[in-house]
Amino acid sequence: MTAAAGRHAGKVAVVTGGGSGIGAASARRLSREGASVVVADVDGEAAARVARELPGPAAPVAADVSTVAGVDAYVDAAVERFGRIDLHHLNAGVLGTMAPLPDVDPADFDHVIAVNLRGPFLGLRAAFRRYREQESGGAIVVTASISSLRGAADQLPYQTSKHGVLGLVRGAAMYGGPRGVRVNAVAPGLIPTAIFGDRLAGVEQRGGTVPMRRVGTADEIAGVVAFLLGEDASYITGEVVSADGGAFMVNTVTRSG
Ligand code: ADP
Repeated sequence: MTAAAGRHAGKVAVVTGGGSGIGAASARRLSREGASVVVADVDGEAAARVARELPGPAAPVAADVSTVAGVDAYVDAAVERFGRIDLHHLNAGVLGTMAPLPDVDPADFDHVIAVNLRGPFLGLRAAFRRYREQESGGAIVVTASISSLRGAADQLPYQTSKHGVLGLVRGAAMYGGPRGVRVNAVAPGLIPTAIFGDRLAGVEQRGGTVPMRRVGTADEIAGVVAFLLGEDASYITGEVVSADGGAFMVNTVTRSG
């Protein structure tokens, strides 16, 4: 058990995209720390697999976060099963195809924006409606990315969606401040998960370019999420916490080291 065991005891948490990668690690972490966890994923089987292995109370939900019906489905499931929601990790995401700007497929752009930006928008909207209804606040973390903060030539839809996530987080944090709701972003760097598909091997290799000389793990992101959702972060809101082995600080123009 970690020192943080019990940190989220008695809390009800929703993790979207909880069927894989960072979301699954976050669901495991929150569960280990005492939360009841709703694992929501468009891949219902993956959500069920993760939920089954959690050490505490858990409920899987098949839900597409880019639709109002999908968001309603996981909120309703949480309320039905656990009576309330305290914590949200809005994490479901897709990478989209990597292509230079002239070759970006508008349909791909729309899909990435729908999942990565409309999804957290709907999720934040639903979270605040729920907090209003249950007359108590909570804490929310949205998964951003180093691509929320940096430019790259071949990931325009993803990068655009992740830049937008910071706008959502700051607007929601402004709204949430007086209402006792903290909203923050975690910005992972290179974390090899299924999101990279057949580019996974290349991601592992690029770990050598990071100041810490390695890629990160989903668990290392989950630790930040659990911190931001907990009382140790009680005065942190509207913040973007990078967990990237130092990748963000690198000056690529006069780079050395
Ligand atoms: P990472 O953990 O790096 O974000 P993964 O691909 O491992 O990458 O995890 C992302 C998760 O988000 C997957 O389980 C995937 O099924 C889920 N997901 C993708 N699109 C949606 C969606 N529209 N609604 C809900 N979950 C989604």
